[in-house]
Amino acid sequence: MIRFDGVSKVYRTGNRPALHDATLEVKPGEFVFLVGASGSGKSSFLRLILREERASSGSIHVLGQDLARLSNRKVPFYRRNLGVVFQDFRLLPTKTVFDNVAFALRVLGKSEAFIHDAVPEVLGLVGLGNKENRLPHELSGGEQQRVAIARAVVNKPAILLADEPTGNLDPNTSKGIMDVLTNINAAGTTVLMATHDSAIVNKFHKRVIELTDGRIIRDEAVGRYNNAEGHNRTADLTPLRADSQPIAVQPLDFDPIPDFDPMAPTSEAIDLSYLDRSTNEEPL
Ligand code: ADP
Ligand code: MG
Repeated sequence: MIRFDGVSKVYRTGNRPALHDATLEVKPGEFVFLVGASGSGKSSFLRLILREERASSGSIHVLGQDLARLSNRKVPFYRRNLGVVFQDFRLLPTKTVFDNVAFALRVLGKSEAFIHDAVPEVLGLVGLGNKENRLPHELSGGEQQRVAIARAVVNKPAILLADEPTGNLDPNTSKGIMDVLTNINAAGTTVLMATHDSAIVNKFHKRVIELTDGRIIRDEAVGRYNNAEGHNRTADLTPLRADSQPIAVQPLDFDPIPDFDPMAPTSEAIDLSYLDRSTNEEPL
């Protein structure tokens, strides 16, 4: 589902690689913690999967696509298969909970009838069924992150990328967010979560991939935040989670959905970059 072969990323301004010779595979249905100190390359790793950055060398395949060969025009279609959640939530401050989630569907050209059904369903899934009409500032941090997760998964992505999603939350609230992510994973979405929250990693017994200075120094099928025996060499990697349940992968389909014309001037709107850069700006 996700395969990195000897992937390195060197930023133009960087003096050392943000990612160095990374090779790994993530199978459908896995839940993977990406751990490591600040600056170890976790966000770069996720941005490469999003095709926000391109690899400097090596190859990345996601959902059968070679990301180096994906044209810029096709990137927005590719990203429909991915949901993204960030530490700082990135909700639209003047839109209600309902509209924050609906927005992700409206830019895809989904019908209002579809939105009317899909939004309450996903808000129920994240435990916010009764908060549809609130504005983000009327919610707690944990609730705001639930909205962001609802927005990320409302289009049923194959893969959910979460970059330190509990980084701004207290331990109890974080546990609730983890339960939501676990439920989404159990429903079939592959989850990659970057974190340096050792309590969460140690509690959830998932696959752990550890980065240090851009290098994968550990990959354990069921890991803890810190390996008690010291760090494994990459030669000892155990990339497959023993209990992983492969699920059927939908073939990636770049054909536009029937009521959406990707060549229309509004096609820029489906570029999800608004989720990444500006924190509180209106995206359009
Ligand atoms: P993490 O998410 O683990 O904190 P990052 O992927 O953000 O790590 O950063 C890895 C390294 O790459 C760091 O040394 C960081 O300074 C550098 N880096 C990240 N993004 C950029 C960028 N856009 N331009 C230059 N250097 C960057
Ligand atoms: Mg980061």
